[in-house]
Amino acid sequence: MAKQEDKFKKVISHAKEYGYVFQSSEIYDGLSAIYDYAQNGVELKKNIRDYWWKAMVQMHDNIVGIDSAIFMHPTIWKASGHVDAFNDPLIDNKDSKKRYRADVLIEDYCAKIETKINKEIKKATKRFGDSFNKDEFITTNTRVLGYQEKIDTILSRMGKSLEKEDLADVKSLIEELEIACPLSGSKNWTDVKQFNLMFGTKLGASAESAMDLYLRPETAQGIFVNFLNVQKTGRMKIPFGIAQTGKAFRNEIVARQFIFRMREFEQMEMQFFIKPGTQKEWFEKWKETRLKWHLSLGLGEDNYRFHDHEKLAHYADAATDIEFKFPFGFKELEGIHSRTDFDLSQHEKFSGKKLQYFDHEENKSYTPYVLETSIGLDRMFLAVFSNSLVEEELENGTTRTVLKLPAVLAPNKAAILPLVKKDGLPAIAKKIVEDLKWDFNVVYDEKDAVGRRYRRQDANGTPFCITVDHDTLENNTVTIRYRDTMEQSRVKIEDLRDIIKQEVDVKNWLMKM
Ligand code: ATP
Repeated sequence: MAKQEDKFKKVISHAKEYGYVFQSSEIYDGLSAIYDYAQNGVELKKNIRDYWWKAMVQMHDNIVGIDSAIFMHPTIWKASGHVDAFNDPLIDNKDSKKRYRADVLIEDYCAKIETKINKEIKKATKRFGDSFNKDEFITTNTRVLGYQEKIDTILSRMGKSLEKEDLADVKSLIEELEIACPLSGSKNWTDVKQFNLMFGTKLGASAESAMDLYLRPETAQGIFVNFLNVQKTGRMKIPFGIAQTGKAFRNEIVARQFIFRMREFEQMEMQFFIKPGTQKEWFEKWKETRLKWHLSLGLGEDNYRFHDHEKLAHYADAATDIEFKFPFGFKELEGIHSRTDFDLSQHEKFSGKKLQYFDHEENKSYTPYVLETSIGLDRMFLAVFSNSLVEEELENGTTRTVLKLPAVLAPNKAAILPLVKKDGLPAIAKKIVEDLKWDFNVVYDEKDAVGRRYRRQDANGTPFCITVDHDTLENNTVTIRYRDTMEQSRVKIEDLRDIIKQEVDVKNWLMKM
């Protein structure tokens, strides 16, 4: 655990030191769970967004994008269920005065039991060596079965109680499990209360005529209310999708994990409109497609897993999370939800307008079902950034800090370095920058010895360093150094564009899907 916390602290301080993420309003002591993206962070974030947009919108001829407003008619949130049900159960510890999500306290308790299961598996793997059969072990070992049964019983009881709004039972469960405040160790809890996560604001000049509005807690509703506009004007035929990226706001109760859980964050969502009855097929299809998108970035297959929901939201008939191994363990990165016709039907009911699709093949109208993929851009940023940050032991006994960002996402693709600040080398380096900047983000760096500059660019995540030296004057060649392997080779200046393009081209990365 200490090691994990250590790693996470390094991620946060590296993000600040290298201009990726700053605490918002820092000179006024910050604002909790709100962050600003800095000069490098904004580029990384944009590249992730573009990578998603390319794969989801531009590579699908039946998916289009929109950009709906953050302010929306307040009845939308009544129809969507957010006014009545977008709540988290919160509980306070009377001694530490700290506030927690009751469900998260219980889930964390279960995660600890899961660690015990993993320990048993590890021990048995060691004991049985090559003949170890993991599936058989977890379905027959009595200790593991006991642990698993305990987890299942707890989660099922919590799920049922939350569904029935039996908050007293959620509290009893916390007490029966003797869950203590992680900060103070105290078990002195208040009752569990529901807390709505939407931020309210007002529209209008005078207090009497002002209209109560909400900052949108998800981008999805902007898609639903535009469903018919897009379908008609784009002459879209089912199945088709509408995608959008944009800010969402939630007054999160527990927001202590850097950009993992923010109060203002960005989502990348796609709603796929389908024929009722085909949702199971599409659910599987989108699970597979989205996982492939993640894997194309090469962050490691073992870092992803699906987590199917047992407790379904009011609108869903199937749901899964793609979880990623963050520095603090496996957590939700993306949600894939089969939302039935819930949203469109609700908007029909509340707006009084028909939101149906006429299917020419079937010669009838119906309310489409919806399959949703929803990923947090900031969480994706954290997944990429934390996974890429490594400390490497070098052969000469020193260590180097390197940010091995997938080259397609790196803020700067290359740094152009004159070996020395004289003999005409800077002028050649600057000319290379001028040439390459039409195609890629590149930087010029002449400060410090070249070895230090290499280290700086490693820590910044720049995939290539291009060094101009005295040989360049003779034969127009430069040294290109690869961030991950530290290998160097001599190449012609005129070949640089193609070499870099090969490594950073979105097409080459997405083709791996
Ligand atoms: P969680 O259970 O972690 O609160 P959620 O299930 O409420 O998340 P969704 O409503 O499904 O999340 O939102 C879709 C995606 O938006 C999530 O998978 C996550 O990546 C992102 N997301 C949700 N809440 C936040 C937040 N507060 N900060 C950053 N990203 C978020």
